[in-house]
Amino acid sequence: MTHHAVRTVVIVGSGPAGHTAAIYAARANLKPLMIEGLHRGGIPGGQLMITNDVENYPGFPHKIAGPDLMKHFRDQSIAQGVEIVTDDVTKVDLSKRPFTLTVGDGKGPHVLARTLIVATGAQAKWLGLPSEHALQGKGVSACAVCDGAFFRKQDVVVVGGGDTAMEEASYLSGLCRTVTVVHRRSDFRASKTMQDRVRANPKIKLVLDTVVEEVLDPSKGEVTGARVKNLKTKELSVIDCTGFFVAIGHTPNTDLFVGQLDHHENGYLRTKPGSTYTSVPGVFACGDVQDFTYRQAVTAAGSGCMAALDAERWMALHDPHG
Ligand code: NDP
Repeated sequence: MTHHAVRTVVIVGSGPAGHTAAIYAARANLKPLMIEGLHRGGIPGGQLMITNDVENYPGFPHKIAGPDLMKHFRDQSIAQGVEIVTDDVTKVDLSKRPFTLTVGDGKGPHVLARTLIVATGAQAKWLGLPSEHALQGKGVSACAVCDGAFFRKQDVVVVGGGDTAMEEASYLSGLCRTVTVVHRRSDFRASKTMQDRVRANPKIKLVLDTVVEEVLDPSKGEVTGARVKNLKTKELSVIDCTGFFVAIGHTPNTDLFVGQLDHHENGYLRTKPGSTYTSVPGVFACGDVQDFTYRQAVTAAGSGCMAALDAERWMALHDPHG
């Protein structure tokens, strides 16, 4: 097995958490290596890469597009001397230090790390219907900003009742003829501001207490509608649409760490409260992979800073000559 020289800090993930950890680690002279990943069709940078306008990241009073904000993060990492590898980590061995990371197909050199910062984030959840799976990329999407333009002046459905669903519906209403939000309860989970915006939008229709039973029509290889069921009346009906957007929350990207790092029942990595310490000494977790409460870009960035400081202090205590 060939490998690079042992790195003091390796960061996996390139969203706000990963880049903030990298910037702080670089400024502490820890010469961090970031493996930024190839997720989402080859675009690193995490969920902000598929976010339209960001209006709540402090320091940008006139809002900023998600991808532009991530470019600032990445440029700042590079300016601080962070080394960035654009590839996926495909395997990790946390059973002994230094930790070993396999990158890509594993034919290249392995990466050895004295400390590891996990910032792999989370990704969109799916309903789990066979028809939804069959029509992915053929009218079924989990990202309005990525795919909305394909449905210009058409009718679309958005499933979900949280802020993501409200945001997707608002965004799509600017492009599409109609947007129908289908939600399984009569109350929305979304914040009041976002709900009010959606309720006041004449292009958006709300269908409540309703679940989707099937996305139509897999036999045609394209979306023609959604077969839905009202949970109160048990009535079945079809909503005609050509685009079907799923906006029902996220799951953490933890596949690499299953069986190696402790996690909560919902799959998010467990960190020691008030810190970024995981169950393995020398491994720290920050951002959405360990946060199911706040999940904001700014909280992810804040915890990335914590992870870099935790890693630096841990090295000083446990591996001072590393
Ligand atoms: P949430 O978990 O908040 O909401 C998920 C929604 O999807 C809920 O309404 C839920 O229904 C519904 N849902 C979940 N599973 C299913 C299913 N199998 N079938 C049907 N419906 C389902 O996730 P979000 O992604 O919306 O938001 C996550 C976090 O990110 C929140 O903290 C949110 O505030 C934040 N956020 C903030 C934004 C902003 O401020 N600009 C934008 C987007 C997100 P139910 O309510 O019945 O559980």
